[in-house]
Amino acid sequence: MRVLIANRGEIAVRIMRTCKTLGIETIAIYSKVDKDKPFVSMADYAECIGEANPAETYLNMEKIISVAKALKADAIHPGYGFLSENEEFAKLVTDNGIIFIGPSSEAIKKMGDKLEAREIAKKIGVPVVPGSESPISDVNEAIEIARKIGFPILIKAAAGGGGKGMRIVHDEKELESAIRGAKNEAKFAFGDDRVYIEKYVEEPHHIEVQILADKFGNVVALGERECSIQRRHQKVIEETPSPIVTPELRQKLFESAIKIAKAVGYENAGTIEFIVDKNRNFYFLEMNTRLQVEHPITEMVTGIDIVAEQIKIALGNKLSFSQEDIKPIGNAIECRIYAEDPFNNFFPSTGKITDIKQPSGPWIRIDAGIEPGNEITIHYDPLISKIIAWGRNRIEAIDRMKTALEEYKISGVKTNIPFCLWTMKNKFFREGKYDTHFIQNYFNPAEIRESLEILTDSKPFQQIAVAIASGILKLELKNNSLKIVNAEKKVSGWKLKRYENFR
Ligand code: ADP
Repeated sequence: MRVLIANRGEIAVRIMRTCKTLGIETIAIYSKVDKDKPFVSMADYAECIGEANPAETYLNMEKIISVAKALKADAIHPGYGFLSENEEFAKLVTDNGIIFIGPSSEAIKKMGDKLEAREIAKKIGVPVVPGSESPISDVNEAIEIARKIGFPILIKAAAGGGGKGMRIVHDEKELESAIRGAKNEAKFAFGDDRVYIEKYVEEPHHIEVQILADKFGNVVALGERECSIQRRHQKVIEETPSPIVTPELRQKLFESAIKIAKAVGYENAGTIEFIVDKNRNFYFLEMNTRLQVEHPITEMVTGIDIVAEQIKIALGNKLSFSQEDIKPIGNAIECRIYAEDPFNNFFPSTGKITDIKQPSGPWIRIDAGIEPGNEITIHYDPLISKIIAWGRNRIEAIDRMKTALEEYKISGVKTNIPFCLWTMKNKFFREGKYDTHFIQNYFNPAEIRESLEILTDSKPFQQIAVAIASGILKLELKNNSLKIVNAEKKVSGWKLKRYENFR
């Protein structure tokens, strides 16, 4: 058997590892800028499909299908992102007589539209966040709904993903411009400007359920993942089990997730995302019809290779285990290591990786897609790697993660390792007392400075760093100069060079 991986980076490597273990040959497709990446050399066959631009490469359906046919691929694994949730691609693959390692095109379509997904969940009795049932057509309609459900509210894109097209609105005055902004962002990102309203859940937790479903209607829940450590509504650190999920809540989440999967005739691996409030009320958020970045933590506690199961399901095998057979052991945590600057609003960082010292050690797993000499470019997501740590209990997993992060050295680009390390030491995180506002509430670069001695002792810089972390100030990069916006005049206009000297 031969599988083409229509993706890049760490996830392409991760999928190839399972293929190799199962004795399956692999085909990599890659863009010119990725030619030196490990996923290219690791594949049995590799084909360059374009320069750099995602539209011409990893999103180029025709090209990918033509490579798959020329190199006689039996199946295509789409990974996550790119074409993984594109119903047209899933159809194109199967129409060309190739197996799509994922759900049916119909299931992707139903769950791809958040409004339609909400409708399905509601119909089968799974709670959804109070809000609008159809796209918002004008401000008056939005005001009416907002008054009914109460502020704060969230404007969300129907075609949304990656936290794009989302705006929190605190009162009526902000509504009009927030709708306009969300619509513009959604149009730009998804070519679809439909937006709707949800009540903004207070002290929210993002908790999701990993499911596997075969072609015979068997669906199992592998466990939940707590994904509340986020910036820009995007996950950075995930753990399983969730510190706030009780056995009763887990039971309800699993039942709801399985019900949703069954309602759309879902097959393959998928994730049902919920938002859970401080009183442990839960609401369906959306379904991701693909493998997720954070799937390894579930693998670590269950011992189940999710990619292997995806392949077996796609080949028409029945699930070889039932819900009762799934007995998670211990705790697992994942830190996503991004090329981004936690001291500058988690702003993406590009450049050449000059050196790497990967951590290792007992119960540490590294899923990485780079080696020294590789470039982090503006073309793709700046995810460098993922560290996954396992422990018999939560604190053991956290402490192993801390040791691994301390060992991790990446030179050439800025990374969020200092932030991840700070989190592992943070009192509230260690006690499991956090929600999606964790970064906003507690992250303070000055505190990082003290524990890691990364910044200098410069008083003005510390003050600025604190002000940035607390959202009072913002940095903007313009013509090689860092401008401080929303600032009092006396601290504006720091030169980039000077800033660099402070690191
Ligand atoms: P996307 O598909 O763009 O990732 P999601 O619907 O999955 O959007 O939401 C992303 C994140 O935004 C969630 O994990 C959560 O932090 C926040 N969020 C979404 N909806 C709500 C809500 N109704 N109340 C509070 N936070 C929310």
